[in-house]
Amino acid sequence: MDVKRIFNKGLDLIFPPKCIFCGQIMRIGTTFEMCTDCSANLPWITANACVKCGKPTGLNENKMLCSDCKNAGHLYARGTSVFAYTGMVKKALQRMKFEGRKRYAIVFGFLMAQQLKKMKNWPIINIVAYTPLHKKRYAKRGFNQAKLLANEIAKHLKYTLAEDILYKVKNTPSQSSLARGQRQQNLYNAFRLNTKIDVKDKNILLVDDIYTTGTTVNECTRYLKAAGAKGVYVITVAIGKGR
Ligand SMILES: [Zn+2]
Ligand SMILES: [Zn+2]
Repeated sequence: MDVKRIFNKGLDLIFPPKCIFCGQIMRIGTTFEMCTDCSANLPWITANACVKCGKPTGLNENKMLCSDCKNAGHLYARGTSVFAYTGMVKKALQRMKFEGRKRYAIVFGFLMAQQLKKMKNWPIINIVAYTPLHKKRYAKRGFNQAKLLANEIAKHLKYTLAEDILYKVKNTPSQSSLARGQRQQNLYNAFRLNTKIDVKDKNILLVDDIYTTGTTVNECTRYLKAAGAKGVYVITVAIGKGR
């Protein structure tokens, strides 16, 4: 056993790998921190999702638009999520963001990459982008969870990550604190695009942690499309339930 492995084993004994969802201590040497119990019981999105945003519709058909998408006319092309935003997934995402659990991105990013491999009729992705945090919010949190996820996805699927292609110029209140009707107004003119990165005729994967009404990813899409992007495809870890 080499020094690095002994060192890692030592770390595992002090900080044993734990399932990111339930906290169960896992076998020493485990690098993928999701236990089999959680794997069997988490709210995976399987069938019957909205064909546009990927929200579970609860309908029997898989080709329907949810009522949000029917009304909103989103600018992005297609979206998908790994989980419904509920229960242990919701709690894990909150810990990731507000308790600094950056390593959760390893599990989530891998699952997102797996999800992307399953998508039918999606084009070849040219660039991976992510929703930005305002610099004040970034300074407070120390990281952007969407960027960590995008980085993992890019690594697994050998995509090109466009760092800081979008940035946020307005430090807006959290979208989750607002009613549906206020969300678009809140983000009006809130983003800018780094024009040094060429997006013309490119298909872009836009990564975020949570999708609720789609306002954030839609506003980001507006800038990418205005700069000539061909299509914007969205993936999030989790998505709120459809109406
Ligand atoms: Zn677990
Ligand atoms: Zn939808």
